[in-house]
Amino acid sequence: MKKKIFIKTFGCQMNEYDSNRIYDSVKKIGFQKTNDLKNTDCFVLNTCHIRNKAKEKVYHEVGRIKKIFKKKNKPIMIIVGCVAQAENQEMLKREPYIDIVIGPQSYHKINEALMKFERHKQKEETEFDTISKFKYFDKIENKDNKISAFLTIQEGCDKFCHFCVVPFTRGPEYSRPVKKILHEAEMLIKNGAKEITLLGQNVNAYSYIENSKEYRISNLINELEKYSELKRIRYTTSHPKDMTDDLIDCYVNNKKLMPFVHLPIQSGSNKILKLMNRKHTVEDYIKIYEKLKKINSKIEFSSDFIISYPGETNDDFNDTLNLVKKIKFINSYSFIFSPRPGTKAAELKLIDNETSKKRLNEIQKHLFSYQINKNRFFEGKSVEVLVENKIYDQSKLFGRNKFNNSVIFLGDKSDIGKIIKVKIESSNQNSLFGKIENNEDMRAA
Ligand code: SF4
Repeated sequence: MKKKIFIKTFGCQMNEYDSNRIYDSVKKIGFQKTNDLKNTDCFVLNTCHIRNKAKEKVYHEVGRIKKIFKKKNKPIMIIVGCVAQAENQEMLKREPYIDIVIGPQSYHKINEALMKFERHKQKEETEFDTISKFKYFDKIENKDNKISAFLTIQEGCDKFCHFCVVPFTRGPEYSRPVKKILHEAEMLIKNGAKEITLLGQNVNAYSYIENSKEYRISNLINELEKYSELKRIRYTTSHPKDMTDDLIDCYVNNKKLMPFVHLPIQSGSNKILKLMNRKHTVEDYIKIYEKLKKINSKIEFSSDFIISYPGETNDDFNDTLNLVKKIKFINSYSFIFSPRPGTKAAELKLIDNETSKKRLNEIQKHLFSYQINKNRFFEGKSVEVLVENKIYDQSKLFGRNKFNNSVIFLGDKSDIGKIIKVKIESSNQNSLFGKIENNEDMRAA
């Protein structure tokens, strides 16, 4: 009988992609994916270091598993991802229930580590070198069969924003070869993908040189457009500094690139951007915004904001507020600054809690109201939806419009994988609700 493996994934789409690739890898040594946590032989926790108290969350989760398996044989407990990278040996010392710790650049060693553990019960902590795991994973078919699939094209970051752990946990920027990316895209399309989201910590920093020619993300987007079965292309997460004209030009000619740009700015104050070591100004950001809006006025933006970064005055905060009022992001992430061990910003003096909460409430009031208003704008209109799956209660379908809004509506399983028109009847902050529209005369938003 096949052994079962359960992976719990925290964090971003890149971790989700990594978890899927781990499933593909361990299949080769007889493990099968299970959704039944209580009866698994191996439990993998794919961790994220971006959020506050990431380390504590990992130990809390291990404690939960311990309780579940109190009266049974314990599963092999593996911690992977960014917290694993940052904590390394410390984890094995602090929590003996953990058997294997693997950083995000060492996933290719998971089969070896598992076999070693099964044979010798040998606790393992992998070396954290920068050997590319991609060479290993390029040889294993990506079995993901989702309608909307992720494809990692780039990893790591050389920008060293002072608040961020990514350069320490994922290492320096690495871009995968074009051929390998396109080959993986073909596999995903063969397995049913109609939409591909290109992933990277700094996705638009993608740069691969072959025969003295540099390939950028714009080249990949244009290559992907040629696959007729593929209907939509997205990418995340991008940095303003790498929003070069070749990428902006893709919005002129590429009909499959969706008119929705997630472009983190973090602050609307140049003083704070400098303190953060962001390497771009507010004016740079606005210039990108204006260029894109000129190409297509319907393009929408979302962003990330860090509120109360050390040194942020009321004036700096008001600059951020003014930027939010100007751009009207339709969906954004906003958090109070919290220090990450090992980063430069971790040594700085924090702004008091009361001021920080007040500022966060104020900014979210604006961000959420634009989000709600934008969703309301779709009511009574017809939107094109790529149908991804059935939702939990099995009676409704789930899909996304061009701007990445969730759309929920009654429909048939046979619509999964199609782009159909849905007339929006109501909305809330996070989703649109409607019914399938047949009237071709409806105005599509
Ligand atoms: S560019 Fe992004 S990933 Fe890189 S250090 Fe800054 S926030 Fe982190």
